[in-house]
Amino acid sequence: MSRVYNFSAGPSMLPEQVLRQAAEEMLDYKGTGESVMEMSHRSKEYAAIIEECETRLRRVMEIPDNYKVLFLQGGASSQFAMVPLNLMTKNRKADYVITGQWAKKAYKEAARFGDCHVVASSEDKTFSYIPKLDPAAFTPDADYFHICMNNTIYGTKYHTLPDTGNVPLVADVSSCILSEPIDVSRFGLLYAGAQKNMGPAGLTVVIVREDLIGEPQEGTPTMFTYSTHADNGSMFNTPPTYAIYICMKVLQWIEEEVGGLAEMKKISEKKAGLLYDFLDQSKLFKGTVERDSRSLMNIPFVTGDDELDKKFVAAAKDAGFINLKGHRTVGGMRASIYNAMPVEGVEKLVSFMKKFEEENK
Ligand SMILES: *Cc1c(COP(=O)(O)O)cnc(C)c1O
Repeated sequence: MSRVYNFSAGPSMLPEQVLRQAAEEMLDYKGTGESVMEMSHRSKEYAAIIEECETRLRRVMEIPDNYKVLFLQGGASSQFAMVPLNLMTKNRKADYVITGQWAKKAYKEAARFGDCHVVASSEDKTFSYIPKLDPAAFTPDADYFHICMNNTIYGTKYHTLPDTGNVPLVADVSSCILSEPIDVSRFGLLYAGAQKNMGPAGLTVVIVREDLIGEPQEGTPTMFTYSTHADNGSMFNTPPTYAIYICMKVLQWIEEEVGGLAEMKKISEKKAGLLYDFLDQSKLFKGTVERDSRSLMNIPFVTGDDELDKKFVAAAKDAGFINLKGHRTVGGMRASIYNAMPVEGVEKLVSFMKKFEEENK
């Protein structure tokens, strides 16, 4: 067996320990004689799994008691609609910051359901920075203020949160959740597709302050109503059972192997630092993002020559570093180094890049 270093933006690597445990438990979960995949979501064995997943997530992220944790399906993309349908209910206004394609998609979807205002955008420079936000441009009576905290495609991240006063801050944290501690109490709602840092695709996690779960807009489907899921412990219908089980194991790995999110952050910074330090001194490769907006998770870079970029991506693949091709709107390369990417994977990638630079002077 040989495993590659997968630098995909998502779905991405999972900790090897999690995969091994899942393999061991595949045919017979703890003496039940069945796989978790085959198990009734109403069984007591499964109840213990989903409970442990929530308990661990609450502990790891220090989620305050007045927040609900929902385990949903439909991806982060469904939240682009669920957020406005459930939160844009008082004044039917919301503020959006456009920092990339996901933020833009979130804005476009929400604009179908109310009056959405673009506070700032970094599209003028291919989303290579997080724009400075002027509170005078915020809508004082907005129902919420939406940001995409880490911009997966462009490799930018908010290093300070906007101060939105009494307006609830809503954030798409799909590609940065669990990579470092975050103060949940600063937010009204957080959402994330699991396939980057939490587990397999198919699970979407929503963390929402209880007082924001109210009557949705008229005509909102039952499945798109937060209270449906909040009132039923995410068991209104069949939840993504296996993905929740793997997420529980990932959280166990973070707590017991890594030592929590403060430790995870040190590792994230170490990995990103290795790559940024190399890029900053390289004569061939260049990072594409402004220094003070850099992401710890997604690092785009280019050589400035499309043919050379292609050659690099192909050579890297042959050497066991896969999915380094950048997004088509940026070109070049992107290394996504989520939690499960070992430090060693980044060290080896940097050595490979050095060698490639030597050979392509
Ligand atoms: C991947 C990603 C999405 C899309 O997630 P789906 O689960 O595929 O809908 C949305 N936002 C961000 C920031 C992402 O990284």
